[in-house]
Amino acid sequence: MNSQSPLTTTELIAEGVRCYLPNYQPREIILDHGKGSRLWDRDGKEYIDLGAGIAVNSLGHANPDLLAALHSQAEKLWHTTNIYYTEPAILLAQELVEATFADQVFFCNSGAEANEAAIKLARKRASTSSPPDQREIITFSGSFHGRTLATVTATAQPKYHEGFEPLPAGFRYCPFNDFEAVTSLFNDNVCAVLVEPIQGEGGVTPAAPGFLSHLRSLCDQHNALLIYDEVQCGMGRTGRLFAHQWEAEAQPDVMAIAKALGCGFPIGALLVAGEATQALPFGSHGSTFGGNPLATAVARVALKKINSPSLLANVLHQGERLKSGLQRLNERYSLFSEIRGRGLMIGAQLTDSHSGQAGVLTEACRQQGVLILQAGPDVLRFLPALNINQTDIDEGVDRIEVALKPFQ
Ligand SMILES: *Cc1c(COP(=O)(O)O)cnc(C)c1O
Repeated sequence: MNSQSPLTTTELIAEGVRCYLPNYQPREIILDHGKGSRLWDRDGKEYIDLGAGIAVNSLGHANPDLLAALHSQAEKLWHTTNIYYTEPAILLAQELVEATFADQVFFCNSGAEANEAAIKLARKRASTSSPPDQREIITFSGSFHGRTLATVTATAQPKYHEGFEPLPAGFRYCPFNDFEAVTSLFNDNVCAVLVEPIQGEGGVTPAAPGFLSHLRSLCDQHNALLIYDEVQCGMGRTGRLFAHQWEAEAQPDVMAIAKALGCGFPIGALLVAGEATQALPFGSHGSTFGGNPLATAVARVALKKINSPSLLANVLHQGERLKSGLQRLNERYSLFSEIRGRGLMIGAQLTDSHSGQAGVLTEACRQQGVLILQAGPDVLRFLPALNINQTDIDEGVDRIEVALKPFQ
């Protein structure tokens, strides 16, 4: 069965423009296939992928072990309802519990859904123990938690809110990494704090040392839940399975994960510890596709491969290599005022004279055959596959140099 269109790439893109809602504005290429950290478009042009979707394809493209898991599960069973158990979902839940702080797991299909479940869990828990005004959730400036109405409201960036009012009530915004501000915002009306251990979309900004522990102790004092959004920074991205593990004493009660959990197959999960597991009783929440056998079969293999010492060591090694490549480039062309992040989650802050140019620079890189991302208008963002090799990093940096040289 050949479903290839007879249209040229330009004609197909015109159809995309005509038939898609205009909310994305994709670049003018049609990606066709990939292998490892290389991608090819429909016209045969090759790209080095330093974005991995957006931190999703963490084991590269067309990984044979992921493909085998998908194919063999597809032959057996690819959907049932959550009225019944399936084996891959039970085993993935067990493996996530063994690998983390969590005691129990809820499966969904995306990061926004995992955060939405976390918000509902925190509110439901508060509803059983405290008066109706004690439902507030603190989130931080520069955060990103998703696009549903509740998660976009949790996202403390006005540009994502505009026009969607009225927004759900009960969210309080605090400057990120401001110890004093969050202390003074806290009181017994707060039922949860939702925070990314490293902010992704907001500019690749890590929590300051001690900030997560500070939140932990505030939550303990006020009987609030500490919720981590590790949708982007989790699943090995920083060289540990989860980014918060760099700060050992700051264990969460609840954690949302998605993106790389299925390495490209859509799946999200909410991980929950202790008494908070009792907050969503029978019938209180659900999802048609959550825990889908295809998604959970693929995620089991993804988790096993990512949670291995050699893979996590590669993240640190290649992360250093990419960072020093960008630093060398910067010594020549002075484009960045700071290069920050951890492992293979790296942000390069543009200097004032290049502010607002992240989109233009990203497109220039694309034209030179390297796919990178931006995080807002002033930060270039690098999130390659965790199993990327030295050749792809080095050649990627070379292509970036050719692309960015004219902008020095
Ligand atoms: C991408 C992202 C989300 C939203 O995930 P979706 O799967 O797009 O719904 C939430 N939080 C963080 C930190 C993210 O990076």
